[in-house]
Amino acid sequence: MRVTQYQTVWQLTFYPALFPVNCYLVEEENEVTLIDAALPGSYKGIIQAVNQLGKPLQRILLTHAHGDHVGSLDALTQAFPHAKVMISERDSFLLQGDTSLRHDEPQTPIKGGIPKHVQTKPHQLLRGGETIGSLLAISTPGHTPGSMSFLDTRNGTVIAGDAFQLRGGIAVSGQIKWSFPFPAFATWNKEEAIKSAQLLADKAPSCLAVGHGHFLRSPAERMKQAIQKAKKG
Ligand SMILES: [Zn+2]
Repeated sequence: MRVTQYQTVWQLTFYPALFPVNCYLVEEENEVTLIDAALPGSYKGIIQAVNQLGKPLQRILLTHAHGDHVGSLDALTQAFPHAKVMISERDSFLLQGDTSLRHDEPQTPIKGGIPKHVQTKPHQLLRGGETIGSLLAISTPGHTPGSMSFLDTRNGTVIAGDAFQLRGGIAVSGQIKWSFPFPAFATWNKEEAIKSAQLLADKAPSCLAVGHGHFLRSPAERMKQAIQKAKKG
């Protein structure tokens, strides 16, 4: 596991060389929030990183319900029974293995690794606009119908799940980067993803943090270029 820090946000990376998967610890004054639960074996490293910060893990937020973002969820809720689990109302269905579409959303198939045996039931369902500690929840559908991003309002870091990828170069979700095509293959709807990417760019983040790839500081110009490229096809 590789650990990188940007201000209040710690990026924990599993398999950094081969297939990098990130989750994040957001440090508050008296507590810690985990964003995403990485792969099934990642819980040991996550527990170790929480213990090193020396503050209680208060919450587990999920950007979306793909297997590489919820893999250690059950192990972590056992290790931290007081942590409150939150996911979008929409992706809470994916978390239960239900990939059916709603009649009012684009009828493109939900893709990617949807877990089938998650036991954990979320404590709170998000719709976007909620304040959770220092974080603001932002609804950013596209990669999945219920994808959520979180903005640390203290320093403008946005933790965007797979709304963008940074491994193999920046790309909006759904835009294939042949050097690392997996997030695009797992994307539900590219048009929705482009709208969400624009919404995130409009927040003018100081740093972009995603599920796959390193932190990107001062990301404005590169986010704009990625959105233009995605619009062209
Ligand atoms: Zn992912």
